[in-house]
Amino acid sequence: MNPFSTARRLFLQRMTRFSIAFALLSSHQSSLAASPTALTGIRISQASDNHTRVVFDLSRNIEHNLFALSDPHRIVIDLSNTRASKALDASSQTTNLMKGIRSAARDSGEYRVVLDLNSKVRPRSFTLQPDGEKGYRLVVDLHATKLNPTPILTSQQERRKRKKEMIIAIDPGHGGRDPGAIGRKGTREKDVTLAVAKKIKILVNKTPGFRAVLTRERDQFVVLRNRVKKAREHQADLFLSLHADSFHNPSARGASVYALSLDGASSEAARLIAQKENASDLIGGISLDDKDELIASVLLDLSQTATIQDSLELGSDVLRHLGKMSRLNNRAVQQAEFAVLKAPDMPSILIETAFLSNPQEEKNLRSSKYQQKMAQAIFNGIKAHLKSRQTI
Ligand SMILES: [Zn+2]
Repeated sequence: MNPFSTARRLFLQRMTRFSIAFALLSSHQSSLAASPTALTGIRISQASDNHTRVVFDLSRNIEHNLFALSDPHRIVIDLSNTRASKALDASSQTTNLMKGIRSAARDSGEYRVVLDLNSKVRPRSFTLQPDGEKGYRLVVDLHATKLNPTPILTSQQERRKRKKEMIIAIDPGHGGRDPGAIGRKGTREKDVTLAVAKKIKILVNKTPGFRAVLTRERDQFVVLRNRVKKAREHQADLFLSLHADSFHNPSARGASVYALSLDGASSEAARLIAQKENASDLIGGISLDDKDELIASVLLDLSQTATIQDSLELGSDVLRHLGKMSRLNNRAVQQAEFAVLKAPDMPSILIETAFLSNPQEEKNLRSSKYQQKMAQAIFNGIKAHLKSRQTI
């Protein structure tokens, strides 16, 4: 592989994330007379070798201004009176025509998005009205100016990344000497989580374009940090930790989904700063050695803010599908400081499938049929999340 271009690509991706997160922060500080349009998402897809499509999800119809610049080739889109309503993470998506995306709120109230290109393109833009579940959209199509363009600045790794499968890391909680919660009938959390994880793995692996990685395949003790490490080694796109709850009151029941809280993120950033070699890897090739620790910590926090936003969205999609087959303990995704959710660059959720301390739920969790239904619901939630991010 080409280490320079890889580092550069990661740097660009990260910087885009930071600038999007930064734009989010600045948007809180400005006050405008007319309430701004909310930009709620940016989705990028490669329709063909000669066609890239960028879709902006908006709270209402907007005016926009699009123009092309060269040296280097880029497309600038100004959205009038618009603010990003949350951390938008489109930065990791590249296509053969587009190598990056940057955005920032401007003092004028406009929101500027810059698409960095590999070569000159013919841009076309149009707006779409709400349709079914989709709201207002601005669509920008980029067409190659000549057919079959020679690949420019596309490293082997970028090409592989575009084609690579979606890798889902599944983490069966507890294991080995740590049984986790134990039900009245003796059901052990570590066995239930492994059984459900294996069922999800089968569903994932039989779906084209998906591959599952388990953090443990058998009844084995694995420290929390090594679970995340294994997922990272496999370049997992999502991380899912499975658990079963327990409470002194046996009537407590229902599933819950957790994402990392910002407090957790901050202390993890601090820990990573202490291990500079890890931290420089995690923030994508930016060496922290010559930088102020505060700046480094802010950079990591911004990256993690975007990841937590992703995790919350993933969590709510999974929760919605779990709600179709199970009682929910909490209707909204909860946030807490779980060690296994602290990877700054991998959306991660923890699922408390049910309460082993509740006799009916213990019975459910022992049933292979119920485990299968739960596995299917969780995978449906994951697919729904990925679909909402990738299609028009
Ligand atoms: Zn647990």
